[in-house]
Amino acid sequence: MQNVDYMLELKGISQRYGNTVVVKEMSLSLPRGSIGCLLGPSGCGKTTALRCIAGFEQVQAGEIVLDGRSVAKPGLHVAAEQRRIGMVFQDYALFPHLNAAQNVGFGLTGSRADNARRVAEMLELVGLSDYAKLYPHELSGGQQQRIALARALAPRPKLLLMDEPFSNLDVALRERLCGDVRDILKHEGATAILVTHDQDEAFMIADVIGVMNEGRIQQWDKAYNLYHLPANRFVADFIGEGVFLPGTVLDDQRVEIEIGVIEGEFDAPCACGCAVDVLLRPDDIIHDDESPLKAIVREKAFRGAQILYTLQLPSGAEMLSLVPSHHNHAIGEPIGIRLASDHIITFRAADAASGACCDA
Ligand code: ADP
Repeated sequence: MQNVDYMLELKGISQRYGNTVVVKEMSLSLPRGSIGCLLGPSGCGKTTALRCIAGFEQVQAGEIVLDGRSVAKPGLHVAAEQRRIGMVFQDYALFPHLNAAQNVGFGLTGSRADNARRVAEMLELVGLSDYAKLYPHELSGGQQQRIALARALAPRPKLLLMDEPFSNLDVALRERLCGDVRDILKHEGATAILVTHDQDEAFMIADVIGVMNEGRIQQWDKAYNLYHLPANRFVADFIGEGVFLPGTVLDDQRVEIEIGVIEGEFDAPCACGCAVDVLLRPDDIIHDDESPLKAIVREKAFRGAQILYTLQLPSGAEMLSLVPSHHNHAIGEPIGIRLASDHIITFRAADAASGACCDA
């Protein structure tokens, strides 16, 4: 196997407030130059994990290795200011009495000429060269966040940590800034970790995403795999949309559900005859007027180019289908559908007797 050069490694770190363990045996490895993301619902421990990495919290178990050097483990705590980690927060945290250029140059320790060059370079990188002399209150939220990013990157930190950096911005601006931030980080060759509860942000920016729940990383993976190969039900539920339908495994390539047989690669080896729940994404169900298989429209959500239909099967089970929006059907109308799934994601049936089916 190739030797990967990791900028950050968490090795089973745990962090507790009082008696409550907030981060539980968390491990991840982030290659140099990569953008990672901790994604999860509010309160799952993302910010606490980030604070441990930054050095604001002392870990109670495990080890943090930054650029090949241990910076935290029980009995060792390298101070935050010695870790060379940059931070960007939700509220920008710019110095109000310093102009944009002075904010960007704040943490620089080189010669005057070197600092001025670096400030100019960073302002250009974030597209705000013309705003150097303006004060934070004269800048929009998006511009302030770009200055905060330029300030954090200017001293060339080993690692950049971003805690919900876009949550104060409106949706359109957030989308644009997400793309820009990714370009800026890649241009700088920065290694970064973003914390967010918003999967669209995570998908737009990150190379690798850790889905967190109750203090644990459930899956540390690429966005594609989180969606198509979720490691467990939590990830399957949290990422994207979908429903679970009961099914029966026929063999190692086929599973039968109410609307037919899905053939494809199984995510997990599975014994025949097992009762499973099969994950169906809205793109696994195609609307087809010619299909003899019908389902009744129960709900519809207009999404511009597409409509997300909630469809009811004869058994009463519901599933989702994403359909081009010129196929505009009424609630209560039966429409033709067919299966278009070629991979099979199953989990142990929720109501299966213990040990009666595979451990998927
Ligand atoms: P997230 O960033 O995922 O929203 P946090 O890491 O902020 O989650 O918080 C995780 C849990 O730890 C929450 O239940 C929160 O109430 C608790 N918590 C966070 N900071 C402290 C603190 N300083 N003292 C006690 N509990 C805290």
